[in-house]
Order: sequence, then structure tokens, then C-alpha cells
Amino acid sequence: MTDSILVINCGSSSLKFAILSNAGQTLIVEGIAERLGSDDSSISFKFEGQKTEIELKDSSHKQAVTQIKYWLEKHPYIQKNLVGIGHRVVHGGETFTQSALIDQSVIQGIADCSQFAPLHTAAHVTGIEVALQIFPGLPQVAVFDTAFHQTLEPEQYLYPIPMAMYRDHHFRKYGFHGTSYRYISQRLAELDPKSQRQGVLVAHLGNGASTCAINKGKSSDTSMGITPLEGLMMGTRCGSLDPSLTSFISKAEHISCDEALDILNKKSGLLGISELSNDCRTLEEAMVSGDSRAKLALDMFASRTAKYLASVATTLESIDHLVFTGGIGENSSYLRHVICQHLKALNISIHEDKNNNAPRGIASEIHADHSNTKVWIIPTNEELVIALDTISLINH
Ligand code: ADP
Repeated sequence: MTDSILVINCGSSSLKFAILSNAGQTLIVEGIAERLGSDDSSISFKFEGQKTEIELKDSSHKQAVTQIKYWLEKHPYIQKNLVGIGHRVVHGGETFTQSALIDQSVIQGIADCSQFAPLHTAAHVTGIEVALQIFPGLPQVAVFDTAFHQTLEPEQYLYPIPMAMYRDHHFRKYGFHGTSYRYISQRLAELDPKSQRQGVLVAHLGNGASTCAINKGKSSDTSMGITPLEGLMMGTRCGSLDPSLTSFISKAEHISCDEALDILNKKSGLLGISELSNDCRTLEEAMVSGDSRAKLALDMFASRTAKYLASVATTLESIDHLVFTGGIGENSSYLRHVICQHLKALNISIHEDKNNNAPRGIASEIHADHSNTKVWIIPTNEELVIALDTISLINH
């Protein structure tokens, strides 16, 4: 076992972690601390096929990281190989175009991006500060979800609003899921080396969902915006709509603009339309049992995903590859089928048998023989990218 990296993804009420060894290739242990800040928070460790759960007495992020440290102390052969910590950070603004070795100025830079993602940013800064206290000797690296999209041209990232809004406040499209898109671009290059010189469309479809166009290895457009609310319909987010609706909802429901935004972020999307669930698996089961609201929600999701694939494709010279990834993209043959039906005009077409029988957890090609575009399912691996960036920056 060499060069182990602790990867931390710190949210406001949860902290996911994993330790990867051998240049990120071996997952040693993973787990999650949940319900942080509440009375019944706990942390679980999945190690050698066994899951153990420990109650967290003061339910803090610090206690969660302390438990990881205790766990490592009980597994000294793992602890002695730990060489660094990689943190997933949602928003890096325009400051961070790539991953960064953490020092006080990087922590300040992350905190300065908090206007766009206040809850996430506060949690990230807490996670980093706590990890610095508990693992004082270990170098730490921040990996940003926005960084991969810093290659967008101004035509793509500017909103058509007064320029002063960009100049004075940095209001622009940033895009997210960048770590996943970078992984997909690199993995596709292993599977098909020509793809690095071609046009690639990626649909990252999970609870959060977005599309990205990758032109010769660089992000050229993406569907999410200044926050993850723009673009596709998602689990609980509405995606793009007429901004006047925010004002209409707040007036009609006698609520503030922020409360209206809360509805658009947390009560809309698959959940809002189906009035049943934000979870794709639950909705597919309901659809099969004849629930028309579940089917409508899924079909709207598919139609809007196709729309935002076609939209970002306008920045490509050709659409040589389309990749599905994320929990839904990797697993829902129904949604892949409906999305590709909507893309027929672009001569994108899947092979129904290959789509329906795609093996779980490994990359596979699912296009029809006559398709202009190769269609792939590629499982994403953001932890691997974070571990590799951490190794590369601490060895620099
Ligand atoms: P997150 O954005 O939280 O990381 P994930 O990428 O884990 O989300 O994706 C979660 C989504 O994937 C859920 O809607 C879940 O229902 C869906 N999903 C997972 N497995 C399947 C499956 N076998 N069939 C359909 N949907 C699935």
C-alpha cells in the first residue's frame, strides 16, 4: 500500500470520506457522518466489506474528523501511509482555475466565494480548518467543482445583463460537476484516445444534474450557472425557467424571494412534478405500476436533459461522443432511451439491447451501428481525481 489520501467531502450536515491508496486505485475505507448538528448524528465506516457505525456525541464536524483519526490509530498500517488530504470544494469562483495546495490564502480565497454557495462554503472551510487541527502534519489540497469550466469563453459564461453586474459582483455562469467531467474526459481518452481531439457531450445525471460540452479536452459550455439551479430539471431543483416566476411565486404565496428560491431548489424537479419522490428508482417503480405523475416527471426530465445536451453542443465542431454518468446516467436505461429518442435529429441513436443490458459499474458503448455519435456509459469517480490532484500537488 503506498501514498494513501484521505478524501473529504464536507457538507453542512454531512461529511463523506474515503481513503484511497496506490495512486487512487485502491479504495481502503469509506464512510459518512450524517445528521451533523442534530441530536442523532453518527459516523459509519465501510471497511473490508463490513459496516460499523459510531454515535457522535457532540454531532460536530470536528468530532467526525476526530473519529476518522481514532479509526486510523486503530489501523496503524493504513495511518502510516497517509500522505495527504484532498477536499472537495463546490465553488472556486474565478479565483481557482485548478486545484490548490491549502494555506491561509487559499482558505481565504474559498471563504471569499461564499456569496454564491454560502452553506457549502461555510461547511468546506470548517472541514478544512478541522482537518488542519486534527492532522497538523499532513498537506491538504482543495479540488474545485467549478475549476474545469474556467475554460469557457465570455460568450458562454456571461449573462446578458448589464456588464457592471459582472464587473462589480462577478455574476456569471460558473458551472459545477467539473471534477466528474474532468474524470470522464480522461477516462474516455483511455478508452478512445481520439476523443481528446474531438467533441464530447456529457450528461452527469444524479440528484444534481448537468450537461457539459468538452471540445478537444476542454469544457466549452455547461448547463449549470452561477449556482447549480440553472439548466436541467433535477431531483428537487427546477432548472432553467423564466426568472419572473420567482417574483410571481413570492407574491402569490406571500413569501420572500429567498423562500421562493427555496421552493425552486428543494421542492421542485422530479419531486415537484411527481408529488411522490425525488428519487429516480422510486419513480421508475411507480411508473411501471401505472403512476402517470411519475412517468410525466421522468419524461420531462428526459426531454429537458436532451434540450441542454443540444444546447451545449453548439460550442462543438462535431458531436463525436455522448457519455452518460452519475447515478441516473449510469443506471437508468429508461431515461437514456428517452433522452436519445429526443436527440434523433442530431443522428444520435442507441442500440436498445446494449442499453438495456449494459453491465453495472464498468464503461460500455451503447450506440447503434448507424449512430453518428458514439454513446457511452462511464461510471464517474470524483474521489480518484481528488486523490490524484492531492498526490500531484504535494509532490510538486
Ligand atoms: P448525487 O447527485 O447525490 O451524487 P447520485 O449520482 O448518487 O446522486 O444519483 C442518485 C440518483 O441515481 C437517484 O435519483 C437514484 O434513484 C438514481 N439511481 C441509482 N441507481 C439507480 C437505478 N438502478 N435505476 C435508476 N436510477 C437509479
